[in-house]
Amino acid sequence: MLSAPFGNTGVEVSRLGFGGMRFDAPEKTGEMAAVVMHAFERGVTYFDTAPYYCDDQSEIICGAAFKEMKKTGRPFYVASKTMESTPDAVRQQCERSLERLHVDAIDFYHVWCLVHPDDLPRRKVSGVLDAFRQLKEEGLIRHISVSTHLEHDHIEAMLDQGEGLFESMLIGINMQNHHLRYPGVQAAADRGMAVVTMNTLGGGVLTKYPGHYEQLVRPGDASIVESALRFNLSLPGVTVALIGFRNEADVDVAADAVERFTPLDEAEIQAVDDDVRSLYRDFCTQCGYCADCPEGIPVVRLMEAYNLGLLEGVDEAVRKMQYHWGISDVRELLAACTACRECEEKCTQRLPILARFEEMKQAASKQQRDS
Ligand code: SF4
Ligand code: SF4
Repeated sequence: MLSAPFGNTGVEVSRLGFGGMRFDAPEKTGEMAAVVMHAFERGVTYFDTAPYYCDDQSEIICGAAFKEMKKTGRPFYVASKTMESTPDAVRQQCERSLERLHVDAIDFYHVWCLVHPDDLPRRKVSGVLDAFRQLKEEGLIRHISVSTHLEHDHIEAMLDQGEGLFESMLIGINMQNHHLRYPGVQAAADRGMAVVTMNTLGGGVLTKYPGHYEQLVRPGDASIVESALRFNLSLPGVTVALIGFRNEADVDVAADAVERFTPLDEAEIQAVDDDVRSLYRDFCTQCGYCADCPEGIPVVRLMEAYNLGLLEGVDEAVRKMQYHWGISDVRELLAACTACRECEEKCTQRLPILARFEEMKQAASKQQRDS
């Protein structure tokens, strides 16, 4: 298994990471723990989980596997997270995670779910970073990490607000949104941090619609999974790519791909970017050019959600705004839009942004009527 130094932490981890957010049958702890064990046997040593994943079963499943993995005496590394916003709640959640994971310390404990630029400043004021520092001093966590969905132009500021505590960053990046998010990877790597990618398969979208994405499979790659992993692991600064494994077969596909890994060069990475842009003209490429809406409307996020709508229907786009971005009613968000069309004029794909807003508003109204 391909491995690499994890930033400046002094540990070396597998470049394929286990994402514990997509287990096929979370209620079957033993069967799912066997999937985690299988990944360990295939050489995976980086395991990412969190409270609430998979009906809050992910940490329990991973913990059952870690109990067995400890008996082998071979190293493995555990990442978990908290989005709690007070010191007491952070400690409580960390202690609960430790108990469920059956480890003495969490290797990489993440300040989780930074979605808005003011999320970290707010948590700092309430003492969250001090709580992390304290947990580290007590040996309950080994390294402090950060997980973010912020757009790239906010990531540097977020890293600087981390008071030099952050040793790794978890960021959603893949072939489709690489343009928008890669500067964030560079900002972290420039600070000596390890970078772990989530959403390597576009949140499962790349594999769910294999026909739709087959043109992104590079010559010599066996599947879109291999191409997606190869892409992320070729990006300078990326240390680990997570895959949300459902079962042992998923583990094998990814582990085989990483065993065959040869990196793409800069020109090949650019060719993937070009393909994404030319093949998926109706899709928002997440370039971010429309990001400065005078009314503060998060156009890029809305259009990212609409991408899912193109594949699964606009209802799904509205739901994504709810579960991913915490926008309970997209109509309220869009009420501030003055229809000035600045975003459409700047759009590199010439997308009908306002018409898409309208579709999302109508879908939200229908969802409310049906509920
Ligand atoms: S049309 Fe609406 S979303 Fe677009 S820039 Fe103007 S106010 Fe912002
Ligand atoms: S400019 Fe167009 S393609 Fe680029 S992020 Fe905005 S909506 Fe998407």
